[in-house]
Amino acid sequence: MLGAVTVRVRFAPSPTGELHIGSVRTILYNYLFAKQNGGALVLRIEDTDQARLDPRALPSIYDGLHWLGIGWDEGPREGGPYGPYVQSERLPLYREHAQRLVDQGDAYFCFCSKERLDQLRAQQQARKELTRYDRFCRRIEPALAAERAARDPHVVRLKVPDAGVVAIDDLVHGKVEWQLATIEDQVLLKSDGFPTYHLAVVVDDHLMEVTHIIRGEEWLASVPKHILVYRAFGWDVPPMAHVPLVLGPDGKKLSKRHGATRVTEFREQGHLPEALVNYLALVGWAPGTEDEVFSLDDLIARWRIEQVQKAGGKWDVERLRWFGGVWMRRLSEDELARRLDGVLPPEWDRSVVRAAIPVIRERMEVLTQARDLIAFLFTDVAPEAPLLVAKKRTAEETRAALARATSALGALPAFGHAQVEDALKAVAMDLGWKQGDLNMPVRVAVTGTKVGPPLYESIELLGRERALARLERAETVLAG
Ligand code: GLU
Repeated sequence: MLGAVTVRVRFAPSPTGELHIGSVRTILYNYLFAKQNGGALVLRIEDTDQARLDPRALPSIYDGLHWLGIGWDEGPREGGPYGPYVQSERLPLYREHAQRLVDQGDAYFCFCSKERLDQLRAQQQARKELTRYDRFCRRIEPALAAERAARDPHVVRLKVPDAGVVAIDDLVHGKVEWQLATIEDQVLLKSDGFPTYHLAVVVDDHLMEVTHIIRGEEWLASVPKHILVYRAFGWDVPPMAHVPLVLGPDGKKLSKRHGATRVTEFREQGHLPEALVNYLALVGWAPGTEDEVFSLDDLIARWRIEQVQKAGGKWDVERLRWFGGVWMRRLSEDELARRLDGVLPPEWDRSVVRAAIPVIRERMEVLTQARDLIAFLFTDVAPEAPLLVAKKRTAEETRAALARATSALGALPAFGHAQVEDALKAVAMDLGWKQGDLNMPVRVAVTGTKVGPPLYESIELLGRERALARLERAETVLAG
């Protein structure tokens, strides 16, 4: 707990597309901060840019975060005491607040047409000046402006001071300052009655009693504008943490060009949510020790906002897969069986799948790998002669070796992997072959491929009858 303050943090996605892995990292940090301070996490939907709405966005936020195990306390579906939690349902609030600033003399109605603004911009560009609004309407007498506003299209703009400096002490970046001379009289309310991001975010963070703003670094540049809005209302600016972006391997913001970026894609690829959470937490945060395997609960105990790094974190799929391998071995076998259920064809016998788990889990980083690893248990295999022939041996020599293996396996009193191993070792010894040189054609004969789960266990799983039938068929292929 941070003193007597009840922590309230929020994540505020714009619903313009499916949940992005970079957003998840920021949401995760908010979640960890809320949990470790006994606080509340709020989901607020920032849909003021109505042209860019994507109907898939909200369901993907809910599905993706639930899948990852990240929950929150207030939001559009859960409700809460600070609702509504969707900005398009809060329009009267923004209008009232914009009006309040106009009434106080801190904001004004602007009637400039798009044509005038375009022209202004072009002239400023031609003179190589900073492009910005020239405050033309700031001079209109307030009573007259109010009268015009009742009939003419208009926006509301903030009166930005000519000079001065604003600053924050960011929890990640430390002290950051901005010169006001570079900031124009920003629009707060658009002509369609919708607020701009700058007005809506400040009004909502204040009204929703957000105590700490943790968001992506791309919003740092907007902070001076927000500070001015806070000031105009006479509100305190909450502490802020602008967390580094998730970058692609080329150092640019992670995007589609770099491969998968949507949570759904990772889910479909068979990544474990535990691995994704573990890995994502470390993109931009380091615990200061060698430890790196963390569950969500471990992260709640260990993660510290002060340890979040300034530099962007590089996305590394290989490392994510490595964490996948770690978590494959940490989950219980029953749990793994449950996760595999949706990934494997429904007709594959689940008791066979369950028996195969101890044999395949060591070789898995993503769930979908199970399909290839155990397909030989459910579908027939028909390897061709060239694949079957042993290293440095002829087809006939290989056939003869397989025949010996077949009879050795056929003669076993019990068919466990240890007995299978002993039998194949005895055959290799007898032949004077290296074990691997014998095992490879055996593997190809029974599983159809050269790579796969451990051989002796695979043969046990397949069962004597089918293993012998496949070996015999391989002998026929080699003979023909
Ligand atoms: N709506 C912004 C986004 O989509 C978030 C801005 C904020 O957190 O202040 O990322």
